[in-house]
Amino acid sequence: MGIEAALPVDGFLTTQLRHVINWARRSSLWPMPFATACCGIELMATACSRYDLARFGAEVMRFSPRQADLLIVAGRISVKMMPVLQRIYEQMPEPKWVISMGACASTGGVFDNYAVVQGCDQFIPVDVYVPGCPPRPEQLIEGVMAIQRHIDKEGLPPPGGKRAPLEVVVQPTHTPRAQPVGLTMGV
Ligand code: SF4
Repeated sequence: MGIEAALPVDGFLTTQLRHVINWARRSSLWPMPFATACCGIELMATACSRYDLARFGAEVMRFSPRQADLLIVAGRISVKMMPVLQRIYEQMPEPKWVISMGACASTGGVFDNYAVVQGCDQFIPVDVYVPGCPPRPEQLIEGVMAIQRHIDKEGLPPPGGKRAPLEVVVQPTHTPRAQPVGLTMGV
């Protein structure tokens, strides 16, 4: 997991080297935006010139999970979407961190129904929760800074392991009914 694997046993030099590595990581977070609803608009605004996420070194949004180390879940996650989100999380290389942005991602928000996951932290590990509906860009920036403080304090996933929870995706609890009227094509 990362360059730490190449470091010898703890000593003065390796401790200093860890600080440099953590400094480099915290200063160049590459977010993977997973925006499904209105919170995504605030996420976009965070990167614009008015708020300028680049000041915190986290403006390089990557749309490939293999190039990202910070997953930002912004918006409600439907039961059908959860396996996709979980796959994206698993495809991100270690070390990686997760922000749950907004009430919907953290709790399902006002969508207390069968179709919406009531908190993505049931299925992927979440490091920082950003409250609000929607959170303002300043709040998301505070969330990014919280991740940076976390990295500064060696808040890395345990070697060889993953942060809990990482449960299996949601399984449907109902049997779909047959289509009431047959579908025809091209008539
Ligand atoms: S928390 Fe509010 S703003 Fe964000 S996705 Fe849910 S309803 Fe939209």
